[in-house]
Amino acid sequence: MRAFELYDATTVEGAVELLRKNSDRAVKVVGGGSDLIGGMMKDWVHGKGLPFPDVLIDLTTIKDLTSISVGDTTSIGAAVTLSDVTDSKGLQDKFPLLVAAAQSVASPLIRNFGTLGGNVNQRPRCWFFRGEDFNCYKKGGDFCYAVTGDNRYHAIIGGELCYIVHPSDTATALLALNAKAKIAGVGGSRDVAFDSYFIGPREDVLRENVLKKDEFMTHVEIPNPASGTKMAWNKLKDRQVYDFALTSVAVAFTMDGNNWKDGRITLGGVSPVPYRAKVVEDALKGKDIKGNIKQAAAQIRTVARPMSLNAYKVDIAAGLIERTVLDALGN
Ligand SMILES: Cc1cc2nc3c(=O)[nH]c(=O)nc-3n(C[C@H](O)[C@H](O)[C@H](O)COP(=O)(O)OP(=O)(O)OC[C@H]3O[C@@H](n4cnc5c(N)ncnc54)[C@H](O)[C@@H]3O)c2cc1C
Ligand code: SF4
Repeated sequence: MRAFELYDATTVEGAVELLRKNSDRAVKVVGGGSDLIGGMMKDWVHGKGLPFPDVLIDLTTIKDLTSISVGDTTSIGAAVTLSDVTDSKGLQDKFPLLVAAAQSVASPLIRNFGTLGGNVNQRPRCWFFRGEDFNCYKKGGDFCYAVTGDNRYHAIIGGELCYIVHPSDTATALLALNAKAKIAGVGGSRDVAFDSYFIGPREDVLRENVLKKDEFMTHVEIPNPASGTKMAWNKLKDRQVYDFALTSVAVAFTMDGNNWKDGRITLGGVSPVPYRAKVVEDALKGKDIKGNIKQAAAQIRTVARPMSLNAYKVDIAAGLIERTVLDALGN
């Protein structure tokens, strides 16, 4: 393991100052470290686009980032642990979808120290990306090994150049809840809706979101759901102990009688970004949900472009969308 410097920031401004001072070095912010520190201690995979970090800035020592406030707008600090999310009475009452998604992440041990910011911003799990013998596009190389290799867990929608699936369960739920990220950085602060926070490989294959090297997420904000909003979460995985999603579905919608009024259906495990299935939402708009959900969910097939070994995921996605919408109705 190589040496690195670790700084405990105590304020957001202090963390920004550390980013500014170290702008010419490979610097990373760290939450619980369950992904980042594990990688650095044993299996950091080098590449031109993935330098070994020289400097780590701990965000969990910033008190402002460790609290949850549930109100007209709900704010969750990026350094809040996933267990704090699942244990929050306010979040359980208002956003059971987010709590269910957080509860489905990894194991109790990892949820006890993994943070919301770390979960949303974690790097992909593609086994070529994580394997030292594959200098793929995402590490700054010149090939995607998933195209000709074992791509059973890769993208079925929106893959291009690189075919990762976004690994974060909470990101999928937060997209369904129309959340936004609050960002601090050397160039100032900004807010970015989750609708545009995640970026695909064509935009920049070396990262998965809009954060620049000298920026980090401070909070996630979620607007109040409209009264009567129905929500549900389902995640299908290979193993029933901890595992990443083969496919997950989050739904949050309002109704007019028995009909779909407005809302979101989002999918994890299928695309390089948490994916909003507008094609399914459009097929439900103004229609009786129960009578139309099967045909509407099947619309996901029109946007899917599976690879050689993962066409099974298209069937899973269609079935899981249908099941999750019906779950939200209580059926
Ligand atoms: C065995 C195992 C199973 C897992 N299963 C699942 C699963 O089923 N579902 C799932 O969603 N995840 C899963 N994970 C991933 C796990 O949830 C993440 O490792 C964890 O949530 C990351 O949180 P952390 O605070 O420890 O992140 P860290 O390791 O501290 O950071 C992860 C990445 O995010 C960046 N980062 C951290 N905080 C911020 C911030 N505030 N702003 C910007 N960037 C930031 C870091 O620089 C780093 O690149 C699993 C992990 C393991 C090891
Ligand atoms: S899918 Fe992406 S991360 Fe995986 S090998 Fe291809 S380029 Fe690399």
